[in-house]
Amino acid sequence: MIWCYTTTRSTHDIILMGNALVIMRIHSKIVCTLGPVSSSPEIIENMIKAGMDIARLNLSYGNYEEHARTISIIRSISEKLGEPAGVMLDLPGYKRRRGGIVEVFRDQLEFASEQDADFIALSFITSAEQVSEIRDLLNTIDPQKPLIVKIEQEKALENSKGIIEVSDGIMVARGDLALEISIEKVPLAQKRLIREANQRGKPVITATQMLESMVRFPQPTRAEATDVSNAVLDGSDAVMLSEETAIGKYPVESVAMMNRIAMEAETALPYHEVLEIGSYGLLPEVDDATARAACQIAHQIDAKAIITFTAGGTTAMRVSKYRPQQPIIAVTPSQKVVNRLTLSWGVVSVKKHEFNVLEEVFELAKQSALETGIVKKGELIVITAGIPLKVPGQTNLLKVERV
Ligand code: PGA
Ligand code: MN
Repeated sequence: MIWCYTTTRSTHDIILMGNALVIMRIHSKIVCTLGPVSSSPEIIENMIKAGMDIARLNLSYGNYEEHARTISIIRSISEKLGEPAGVMLDLPGYKRRRGGIVEVFRDQLEFASEQDADFIALSFITSAEQVSEIRDLLNTIDPQKPLIVKIEQEKALENSKGIIEVSDGIMVARGDLALEISIEKVPLAQKRLIREANQRGKPVITATQMLESMVRFPQPTRAEATDVSNAVLDGSDAVMLSEETAIGKYPVESVAMMNRIAMEAETALPYHEVLEIGSYGLLPEVDDATARAACQIAHQIDAKAIITFTAGGTTAMRVSKYRPQQPIIAVTPSQKVVNRLTLSWGVVSVKKHEFNVLEEVFELAKQSALETGIVKKGELIVITAGIPLKVPGQTNLLKVERV
C-alpha cells in the first residue's frame, strides 16, 4: 500500500514517474521477495516508497547472516521513513525433510524468532495437524507469532479449510501448486482458496509470476497486468512479487506497477456484495456484527475513515474483512501489531501510547486520523473498539465523531 498526501505527509510519499507526480493510495497490500538485487538500503527504501508493505526473505536462498543483515536494513529504513514494513521469513522446512515435520522447522523457527520476524511462512505443508504441531513448538519459543501457510501441495488444497482455520493467513503459492495439480487447475484453485480465506476473515496472498516479464523488461505483459487485477478482484488481501524484486532488473518499477494495477482494479471491487449482502459470510457474533456495522455507518454518512482501537490487531482485521471503501486506521500501542497489520487489506496503522479511558480513545482517534493526512478537520470518522479496552478480541463499541 502506498498513500501519498501532500498535506501532512512528508515528501517521501511523493513518487515521480517520468515527469508525472503520482498520488495514490490503495487498499491491497504488496509483498516483495528480497534477493540479490534488492538487499541494499537504497533499493529497499525505494521499494517502500513505491508501495512495498512486506518484505519476504526466502530461507531457501542465502544464509542466516545475510538475512539478518537485510532485516536490520528493513527495520532501520522503515523507522527512518515512518512507514511500517513487515518482515516475512519464508521457511522451506519440508524441502529438506528428514524425520518429523517439527524437527525440520525447529532451527528455522528459532532463527525467525531471534530475528523477530513479523510473519512466518511455512512451505510444503499438507495438513492442519502439521500447522498445529508447528504452532505448539513455536508457542514454546515465540507465542502468537503469525503463521502464514503456503498452499502448494495437492493435499494442502484438499485440506484447505482446516488449514485456514489453524493459520493466521495463507499464500496461494502458484509456482509449486502448478507442478502438483497441473497448471490449468491453478486459476480455479486460486479463486476457491481466496474465497475460503475471505470467509474466515484471514489474510490471503496471491503469489508467483504475477509480473514475471518485469524480471527482464520495464513493462509487464497484458496478461500479467490482467492477472494482478484479477487477483485483486478475486479478493486477495495481498499480491506478491518474487523474482521480479529478488533477481530482476526492475525491482522498484515492479512494485510501482503492481501498485498502479491494483489501484485501478480496486475501483471495481464488489464492495456492495461484501458489505451489504455479506458475500464473505456473516458470523452470529458481536465483534463481527460490530465491525460490519462500522463499515455500513461509514458508507451511509460518507465518513472518511474507520478508526479501530486494537491491542492485538483483531478489531482491525475484522473490519478489513468487510472491505470498506474508507481506509481503516488502526491505532495501537504495539509496534508488533503495526507490523502485523501490514498484511491486512485496507489497514493503515498508527502507533500511540497505551489508552486507558474512553474519552482519551476518542481524542486519540481524531488526532490519529488527522496525522495520517487521510481525514481533514470537519470530516466524519467512525470509531470502533472493544470495551474493556485492554482485553483483546472484543469489538463491541461504535462511535461517530466529527474531527
Ligand atoms: P516459493 O513459493 O517462491 O518459495 O517457491 C511460492 C510458490 O511456490 O509459488
Ligand atoms: Mn513454493
